[in-house]
Amino acid sequence: MTSPSASDPPALSADRARPYVGRFAPTPSGPLHFGSLLTAVASFLDARAHAGTWRLRIDDLDTPRRVPGATDGILRTLAEHALHWDGPVAFQSDHVADYRAALARLSAQDLCFRCTCSRKDLRGHRIYPGTCRTRNVPPGREAAVRIRVPETDYAFEDRLQGRYTECLAPATGDFVVARRDGLTAYQLAVVVDDAAMGVTDVVRGADLLDNTPRQLFLAERLGIETPRYLHLPVIADRSGAKLSKRTAASTIGTGAPERNLQWTLQLLGLEAPSHAAPEALLAWAVPRWDSARLPRGTSFTNWTSL
Ligand code: GLU
Ligand code: ZN
Repeated sequence: MTSPSASDPPALSADRARPYVGRFAPTPSGPLHFGSLLTAVASFLDARAHAGTWRLRIDDLDTPRRVPGATDGILRTLAEHALHWDGPVAFQSDHVADYRAALARLSAQDLCFRCTCSRKDLRGHRIYPGTCRTRNVPPGREAAVRIRVPETDYAFEDRLQGRYTECLAPATGDFVVARRDGLTAYQLAVVVDDAAMGVTDVVRGADLLDNTPRQLFLAERLGIETPRYLHLPVIADRSGAKLSKRTAASTIGTGAPERNLQWTLQLLGLEAPSHAAPEALLAWAVPRWDSARLPRGTSFTNWTSL
């Protein structure tokens, strides 16, 4: 048994009464791509290294973006890479009533207003100009719901990116919490879901870093304890654009999970042994996982393709 050091993962949760609960929350808008695999592996390893729970949530709230069969494909790909989650799979679409209740709690604090601005009305504005703040759009008309943001800084200590601070008023303006089509906005759903699942640690892509202050604000107003965050660099292509589901080349093919995992682990700073099966590779990686070894910054650009 080695003596504890500052970088020992279990020490990270020592200040917390709550046992570590992590999660991976893909959107079922297509097959898993390498960027999502990287997030899945990192959040999995972080959870396991803390002897924590690793939950899977399918962020299927955005019905127009749902692609038939995508959820099954994601579950299959995760299983093929030995990324075994704990407990039942959670689906956002099962929690619409919770989102409504959260929205009602925000509205009861007089924070929300209805907005009928069209895309065209907002063209040319970097952030929402506040048009409907005082308009009192009556119920009955199709409208989005926005939340009034304060002139206050929201800050948090990211485990990798360091301190991140944002004043919402100039950065995002009054943002949408319920869309015009009636769907709950991602910002609100994610806060409600993470709290409902008891998530203590969010490990996700740095493309969501600047969403976090909005989520901290919502959590504060809902009386929810916020998780710790680790925002991973995202895999970018040569031009610096994030690899996404729209980049067909980044979709994970079947039949090479060992190679995919090795490549992913390498990006995460772990030189994995070759010729090991997925289960063995992950078992090898858990005790070696060290978030301090991750490259700082918000994108990986120096990767070579498989
Ligand atoms: N479902 C979101 C996505 O796929 C991630 C949500 C989160 O990690 O906060 O981008
Ligand atoms: Zn408006």
